Amino acid sequence: MRKKTLTDVPDGDWEQRVVLVRVDHNVPLEGGEVGDDTRLRGSLPTLEHLSERGARTVLLSHLGRPGGRTDPELSLGPVAGHLSRLLGRGVTFVPEVAGAAVEEAVSRLGEGDVLVLENTRFHPGETADDPQLAEAWAGLGDLYVNDAFGAAHRAHASTHALPLRVREGGGVAVAGHLMERELRFLGETLEDPDRPFVAVLGGAKVSGKIDAIRALLSRVDRLLIGGAMANTFFLSLGLEVGRSLVEEDCIDLARELLEEAGSRILLPVDCITAPEIGEGVEGRAAERDRVREDEVIGDVGPRTRELFGAEIRAARTVVWNGPMGVFERRPFRAGTEALARALAEASDGGCTTIVGGGDSAAAVEEAGVADRMTHVSTGGGASLELLSGAELPAVAALSER
Ligand code: ADP
Ligand code: MG
Repeated sequence: MRKKTLTDVPDGDWEQRVVLVRVDHNVPLEGGEVGDDTRLRGSLPTLEHLSERGARTVLLSHLGRPGGRTDPELSLGPVAGHLSRLLGRGVTFVPEVAGAAVEEAVSRLGEGDVLVLENTRFHPGETADDPQLAEAWAGLGDLYVNDAFGAAHRAHASTHALPLRVREGGGVAVAGHLMERELRFLGETLEDPDRPFVAVLGGAKVSGKIDAIRALLSRVDRLLIGGAMANTFFLSLGLEVGRSLVEEDCIDLARELLEEAGSRILLPVDCITAPEIGEGVEGRAAERDRVREDEVIGDVGPRTRELFGAEIRAARTVVWNGPMGVFERRPFRAGTEALARALAEASDGGCTTIVGGGDSAAAVEEAGVADRMTHVSTGGGASLELLSGAELPAVAALSER
């Protein structure tokens, strides 16, 4: 790691110190209660590291998109209660983002205590990367930890201006355990992968993933393409795709990429088609040059499942972003499920398997194989940017090793 991490700070240095920790506690709330608490649990290793060393921890997080105004529906209050149960210690909540009430609450913190501030996006300065808001937070303490990988592609006050301010004042800004793990797997592992290195891209759009395709093409031995993304590539080959989801304005780009990459890009050879995408429809397996005008492509076909599966099982490093089909609907689930299982088997055989993207993570979870992957990323947009080779602003703002 080029950036400092928790373990670069000597244990004794945390004791009694106020530590500002940016976490990703952007969890779903259902009727004032925390729904899926995966993200809260993801931050526990870092929070425990700090509490065990006697730090006085102040948590900053956003929740939803309140647009710079207070929205009681998006308060982090319920999160504090839930977090307290997970941590097995008292967690206090102050219903302010910054200011006198926050300073007062921080002054009452004891060794190992945790304080949750209100949703950072209730303050208009958060998304504006406002130095004044950063200044107010930096006045609370001079140690900063960022564990919010999911927000690392945003230059916001809590992820960017604050760590810069802390460092200017002579303090230290480090990556938390979760952030460190994400950077290791999505960044460093892919820079120097064990080969064969295979990438699998799918999902709805080519346009949102062009940079990732280009960056991956420069490094992989094979790039497997599925999902609706493949449809645009089919069009560039002059194939009929019926009423399938395509991006007309990416056809030329798809053709260029195929020319550039030659046999390193592998497209589906067959697909599952249907009259429409729905739960009750009957899917039909068709070779890719046998799709009818009145059909839509909803998944990769059985021969492609075999083909892609064999590539994955022969690989030493695999990175996967984007489902192979409309996996949310039962008739179009098999391609994504088969891919998830192929990755799990490869993993068992010692291959490094990395899954990024919200829908892809949900798919491996649903297939019951998430815990067999080397790493399942918690960040959608951030993981895609990292795969694209971009430097994330929140990571850039941390102290150098
Ligand atoms: P991720 O969140 O893993 O990055 P994306 O958001 O890019 O993935 O894409 C996921 C979406 O792509 C899913 O909602 C899925 O239904 C859709 N999708 C995949 N294949 C197709 C297809 N053939 N036609 C329409 N939508 C598709
Ligand atoms: Mg998605």
